[in-house]
Amino acid sequence: MDRDRILLTPGPLTTTLRTKLAMLKDWGSWDADFIAVTASVRRSLLAIIHGQDSHVVVPLQGSGTFSVEAAIATLVPHDGHVLVLDNGAYCKRAARITSLMGRRCSTMSFDEASPVDPQALAQRLQEDASITHVVLIHCETGAGVLNPLQAVADVCARFDRGLIVDAMSSFAALEIDARKTRFDALIAASGKCLEGVPGMGFVFIRRAVLEGCAGRSQSLAMDLHDQYVYMEKTGQWRFTPPTHVVVALHEAIVQFEAEGGQSARLARYTRNYQTLVTGMAALGFKPFLDPAVQAPIIVTFHAPQHPAYEFKRFYDTAKHYGFLLYPGKLTQVETFRVGCIGAIGPVEMRQAVDAVAQTLRDMGISQPALGV
Ligand SMILES: *Cc1c(COP(=O)(O)O)cnc(C)c1O
Repeated sequence: MDRDRILLTPGPLTTTLRTKLAMLKDWGSWDADFIAVTASVRRSLLAIIHGQDSHVVVPLQGSGTFSVEAAIATLVPHDGHVLVLDNGAYCKRAARITSLMGRRCSTMSFDEASPVDPQALAQRLQEDASITHVVLIHCETGAGVLNPLQAVADVCARFDRGLIVDAMSSFAALEIDARKTRFDALIAASGKCLEGVPGMGFVFIRRAVLEGCAGRSQSLAMDLHDQYVYMEKTGQWRFTPPTHVVVALHEAIVQFEAEGGQSARLARYTRNYQTLVTGMAALGFKPFLDPAVQAPIIVTFHAPQHPAYEFKRFYDTAKHYGFLLYPGKLTQVETFRVGCIGAIGPVEMRQAVDAVAQTLRDMGISQPALGV
């Protein structure tokens, strides 16, 4: 079968034909046409968070993690002290990056099934004046928990500490308003809720802290200040840009705006999420998270407690029916994940549930008989 499978993953994800077709052209990186595309993408990105007055946006080549690394290296002074609010796998990655960048790093651990606690953060900042920056993962894609961005930003503002937000899997779907929420840096990427293809990240940096970032990164490539200065001066990227990724993102943003922007995207993903959990519940599947803390981005389900269940076979069979699932990322319980994001709607979600039902029949699992 020569048809694209539907990606129920947190990126790369299913894109529209229009977005894919935008990549069928070559662009000169220094050419005025491509410079205009870059400028347009940057304008649109800033508008999504209403950040025109307060922030700049700096695109960077590479996957999302490259931009997290660049943000930490560019924002945090060498003698800074970063506190990572840790409730999952992406938090642990951010902490590892911070240590590898040679910055002092502490973590505050929370249960991976619940959001981080702003009150506990306030207490910690009160007690430890050496902490200069806090790192928050907005939607912890590991389990799918939505963390309280506004409350954490308010605490950081109150104690006058910097806040670096990894909003990779939430940006453009969940509301983020730079006029209401104070952050020093916020990181996202092309291949997530904007429904572009993977290959570039971008970091919103608060204008007030931008100047202090000059010469701070110990890396040539991972220096957002240098990238910003060069881009402002020439309109070009410092090094070879991922041209096809940028034009695809431009095309994806046109469709994002036509759909109705962030609120319309959130509404569609919420319908996807509801269709998914309702359909999966009828098959006997139970989500790992309490719905009250779940973002409508990616859902972790308990794996069937059945002797015939094995993730590899489950995955392969669902793939045969046209849907790519995602392995779980939790250490304690056996799970799998299903993404709700991408250029898909409730119809595809319904079909995905049917594919899972057929997969269970093929595997000889009559009822998932789920453990908790
Ligand atoms: C996808 C994602 C990233 C970046 O992962 P890459 O594989 O580098 O693109 C970082 N943080 C979160 C929360 C994510 O969902």
